[in-house]
Amino acid sequence: MTASSPLPVQRLRTLIATEGAIPIATFMAIANAHYYASRDPLGRSGDFTTAPEISQMFGELIGLWMADLWMRAGSPPVAIVELGPGRGTLMADLRRAISRFPGLSDARTHFVETSPTLRTEQKQRVPDAFWHDSSSTLPTDLPLLIIANEFFDALPIRQIVRTDDGWRERMVTLHDDRLIPVPGKPSVDPLVPRTLAGAPTNSIIEASPAGTAIMADLATRIEVQGGAALVIDYGYEGPAVGDTLQAVKDHGYADVFDRVGEVDLTAHVDFTALKDAARKAGAVAHGPVDQGALLTALGIAARAQALARANPARTKALEADMRRLTAPEEMGTLFKAIAVTAPDWPKPAAF
Ligand code: SAH
Repeated sequence: MTASSPLPVQRLRTLIATEGAIPIATFMAIANAHYYASRDPLGRSGDFTTAPEISQMFGELIGLWMADLWMRAGSPPVAIVELGPGRGTLMADLRRAISRFPGLSDARTHFVETSPTLRTEQKQRVPDAFWHDSSSTLPTDLPLLIIANEFFDALPIRQIVRTDDGWRERMVTLHDDRLIPVPGKPSVDPLVPRTLAGAPTNSIIEASPAGTAIMADLATRIEVQGGAALVIDYGYEGPAVGDTLQAVKDHGYADVFDRVGEVDLTAHVDFTALKDAARKAGAVAHGPVDQGALLTALGIAARAQALARANPARTKALEADMRRLTAPEEMGTLFKAIAVTAPDWPKPAAF
């Protein structure tokens, strides 16, 4: 660590010492920026495993989803975009699956990724991609086909907590040298939906201003340039009360406020809020559909059988992978997908 990039816990201490308690969103942004920049968190040796790291079938089927939509839209020249591509595994599998579609296979890959460590991983699997720090520099002259898997859950959220005297922004402060959450100043906030205004004391409402801002930007581009986005994540259809901020380390849950920047902080995604942001920007929003239903509709069973025929020794493993991705007690219903399309684009498969 250099003097210009202090450990996140030191940075938070300095911030709190000079400014007082800071919003949950600031805490989460600083913690996760360090977390992702300083490691490859994915896979068995990391902290968590994502769908594309479980099986090649995930990226392949998303590639076929994309190719089907693209053909029905008239096979225009497009750019392919992924937000938060992790190791680049999904995109490598997707690109292989679309290689049989001339016109689509010529499309350039654009990655939105802030972590230098993960950019290095992505470059190994998709060497000819273009990298962006944010969605604001994506191409403006082509329809965009966008995919985001477990990206929105990593973005900072705000939490508003109900106290005896009204709703307050939830903040983070130092107490006996430990970071703890505390209610902040009263929040007279349009964030609290009317249906939840009477929620009991200690109820928490979440919002992801960063997530809705990115969705608004993508949907505006899709409305103007054409194209579609597929967002897959774990989440719910808000508005709802609940504290979903969680920390994961070594494939288990950890304390959110301990070991800042060494644990993965995520929050469940409010698909209603993302769809509202897309619709406000003039795009069409579809779903959510469960991940299990999505992959089943896209033909995961047939794909598993084809792979098993090519390599019978893998039959059991392929069946297990398919189960992990689609079974309700595994990832099948906790994970959901929404799609966003340009008004003059066709309805995507499985929605
Ligand atoms: N999509 C991958 C990785 C998910 S982990 C998979 O399914 O395996 C979250 C990813 O989002 C990582 O690549 C992380 O570096 C990236 N990320 C997190 N916050 C980001 C931000 N604010 N801007 C761009 N990328 C971000």
